[in-house]
Amino acid sequence: MKLLMVGAGLSGAVIARRLAEAGHRATVIDARPHIAGNCHTERDPETGVLVHVYGPHIFHTDDAEVWDYVTRFETFRPYKNRVKTTARGEVFSLPINLHTINQFYRKTLRPDEARAFIAAQADTSITDPQSFEEQALRFVGPDLYEAFFKGYTEKQWGCHPSALPASILKRLPVRFNYDDNYFFHRFQGMPETGYTAMVARILDHPNIDVHLDTPYAPGMADRYGHVFWSGPLDGYFGYDLGRLGYRTLDFERFTETGDWQGCAVMNYGDPEVPYTRITEHKHFAPWEDHAGTVCYREFSRACGPDDIPYYPIRLVEEKALLSDYAARAAGEEGVTFVGRLGTYRYLDMDVTIREALDTARAFLSGGVERGVAGVPG
Ligand SMILES: Cc1cc2nc3c(=O)[nH]c(=O)nc-3n(C[C@H](O)[C@H](O)[C@H](O)COP(=O)(O)OP(=O)(O)OC[C@H]3O[C@@H](n4cnc5c(N)ncnc54)[C@H](O)[C@@H]3O)c2cc1C
Repeated sequence: MKLLMVGAGLSGAVIARRLAEAGHRATVIDARPHIAGNCHTERDPETGVLVHVYGPHIFHTDDAEVWDYVTRFETFRPYKNRVKTTARGEVFSLPINLHTINQFYRKTLRPDEARAFIAAQADTSITDPQSFEEQALRFVGPDLYEAFFKGYTEKQWGCHPSALPASILKRLPVRFNYDDNYFFHRFQGMPETGYTAMVARILDHPNIDVHLDTPYAPGMADRYGHVFWSGPLDGYFGYDLGRLGYRTLDFERFTETGDWQGCAVMNYGDPEVPYTRITEHKHFAPWEDHAGTVCYREFSRACGPDDIPYYPIRLVEEKALLSDYAARAAGEEGVTFVGRLGTYRYLDMDVTIREALDTARAFLSGGVERGVAGVPG
């Protein structure tokens, strides 16, 4: 069958490859001038540093099949994400761990002492937390909440933490040891030659052809037996019910020499600092050596019609609109909505690949998915 993938990100590439290997012909189009979607990496011409063009991407997963899949197409170098934050004139370690607690409170607590100490800070009058703010106060109390969650969250989401659901903070966001590895996952790493090189290898198959600078145009689907849509769900329907809310990011690039901040990601929790974090890209490839360095100051704001959608907002209003679009998507024949934009969810790369592999598997066994994954239609 001739198949069309709208989007050359991980979703489109992984589905195309699986189906091409099974003998189908896959055409992959992307509106952008490059493959790999938001994971795109490219060499900065001035410094030679490999830059994560749409923001920092660290690969981490517990899914052995997904890890086997990515390592088939790329060598992954061991990498631990160690994030720092600047707050109130000091640099702290994230996620909040024993070092952070001891530095913040000027103490020398051991794990059990710290656990009891933090439990004593928690606001126990909150029995059924409804908002992100209440959940944070119940877990860590006002001091850590104000220093590490409040300002950052306001900047990231553009609203007060009392307007965000408690579900964002599912577990106690504190470690009572000195482990500062941001992720718990068994497999973690960085692609040696970058995500775009990896996606290029995934797409390199005689049954796949790729067309860049090619936005989907009405009528294109007529020439194909099935479409896998990884563009925006509301975009497929011409936004006719309204736009699903997203946050977008602006990156202010600057270059320096040497090592500018000493780590890959430095968060800024204070509300007076307008950006959320600074990424210094050379630290994602510590095995490379460059005299220059490239940094991105990252600003978050509401996404307008001409901006790149990054993070789905998914508050009450968006959820209602989402279920309207999902109901329409369920009625569309010959189209499967996939990926972070097609299903309007934040998806890490490993989950994106897992879902793409499952979608391809279902298609090959004749069970084409209808509607939008994870959304009642
Ligand atoms: C700032 C940021 C940081 C992240 N960091 C991490 C991380 O550290 N670790 C992690 O695991 N994940 C991370 N992610 C998530 C990761 O980016 C996604 O999992 C991944 O990009 C999803 O791939 P996708 O193919 O579904 O979507 P995308 O990468 O968005 O690809 C969709 C593609 O479709 C194209 N397209 C859209 N509409 C059309 C159209 N009408 N016609 C033609 N083409 C179209 C777009 O141009 C795009 O290239 C991060 C995401 C963001 C936003």
